[in-house]
Amino acid sequence: MTKPLVAGNWKMHGNIEQASSLASQLAANWNDLQAVEMVVFPPFVHLSTVKEALANSAVALGAQNISQHEGGAYTGEISGAMLVEQGCQYVLVGHSERRELFGENNVTVAEKFKAAQKVGLVPILCVGESLQERRQGQTLAVVSSQISAVIDCVGLRNVSRAVIAYEPVWAIGTGEVASPQQAQQVHSAIRTQLGNIGADTRLLYGGSVKSSSAVELFAQPDINGGLVGGASLEAHEFLNIVKLAE
Ligand code: PEP
Repeated sequence: MTKPLVAGNWKMHGNIEQASSLASQLAANWNDLQAVEMVVFPPFVHLSTVKEALANSAVALGAQNISQHEGGAYTGEISGAMLVEQGCQYVLVGHSERRELFGENNVTVAEKFKAAQKVGLVPILCVGESLQERRQGQTLAVVSSQISAVIDCVGLRNVSRAVIAYEPVWAIGTGEVASPQQAQQVHSAIRTQLGNIGADTRLLYGGSVKSSSAVELFAQPDINGGLVGGASLEAHEFLNIVKLAE
């Protein structure tokens, strides 16, 4: 059976002390939650502090972004090899904030996905439609084309080895969660797109997940955990969400 995964995206929040304290609280409680894999995504500059705080626990470390380039004159960028050196196992690619605010398109996202796998990182590919696209009935087409762009670049087998997070843009940071039925409909379409090879691919739901909404979402047959933003900044709430994925 697929082990559920719950990921916490800390975005650009907190300072070193807060990152260390949050990670320590997760590490202290990790033992009770071994049926679920937990991973946190601190800002780049907090990675080494968080890595130290997570030592002796199975909570994994991830980065929020990766350069598509292996190295060179790319001011301000961070390569996959650098992330591996920092102890990262996962990396987010194609988060809607990167797509919307930093101009990442399907091609860039696919290149980043490829760069991640090349150094042994597991990419969490984020996909999802805007409110306007949903209203126009384009949800499944948008999500499918975002995934197809990556399949075209790295092949279906490589995509199925990664994690895919369905995150409707209108649900991220808004407090508005997709209904379990809306989420399951998209997850089921993603599963179908991946075919037999994707039967065990972990598909996460993200978008204003809280412990109050997680129970029903995680009960859906094609939802294998969550990508949590705001609620991952509070240890108790995040641990409650992780517990619900068991
Ligand atoms: C996210 O950043 O991926 C996310 C889902 O954020 P939030 O849970 O705050 O909506």
